[in-house]
Amino acid sequence: MRRLLLATGNAHKVEEVQEILGEGFRVEARDTGAAETGATFEANALIKARALAAEVGELAVADDSGIEIDHLGGAPGVHSARWTDEGDWIPRVLRELDGVPEAERGCRYVCAAAAVWPDGREVVVRGIVEGTIAHEARGDGGFGYDPIVAPIEGDGRTFAEMTPAEKHAISHRARAFTQLAHEISVP
Ligand code: IMP
Repeated sequence: MRRLLLATGNAHKVEEVQEILGEGFRVEARDTGAAETGATFEANALIKARALAAEVGELAVADDSGIEIDHLGGAPGVHSARWTDEGDWIPRVLRELDGVPEAERGCRYVCAAAAVWPDGREVVVRGIVEGTIAHEARGDGGFGYDPIVAPIEGDGRTFAEMTPAEKHAISHRARAFTQLAHEISVP
């Protein structure tokens, strides 16, 4: 089993990445505290992975993720964790989309996953899952915006109503880390 250092302070992400990668990797979290000053998911994922690789002198990975809501012009995007207090993430989206019809409630989760090696090699990949903003919060699984995001390729349930395995079968994070695992397994 290969140790993989993940630059994050988010316990939900560590759990998800471990479940996605399975037994071939043992995911260990390290919080670098690096400021997410990039304009894109890719830039922020690289900032975090570079900071950790420089600190530990070995391969480091990181992700940066968020939700883009069509009706809000793609917001909150890279600011998803910071645009309002965590307890207000879901109420604010529901307020802003109050009365907006089904056809205009499109959204997507985006995840950029980066790997940085101590010799300077870098890889960054992107995973996306398209969805719809539900009219009310449903379910207690997952984290973040999951109670109001129903994937298009699902059966109408939100990500918070799915099992972890159902979420990982289609999620942005699973799509990004499956590609990244391939990249870091190639000699
Ligand atoms: P960051 O990647 O640490 O900048 O934070 C991303 C933020 O986007 C999280 O704090 C959540 O608010 C949101 N987010 C990212 N991925 C997911 C997910 O799988 N479910 C729900 N919310 C997510």
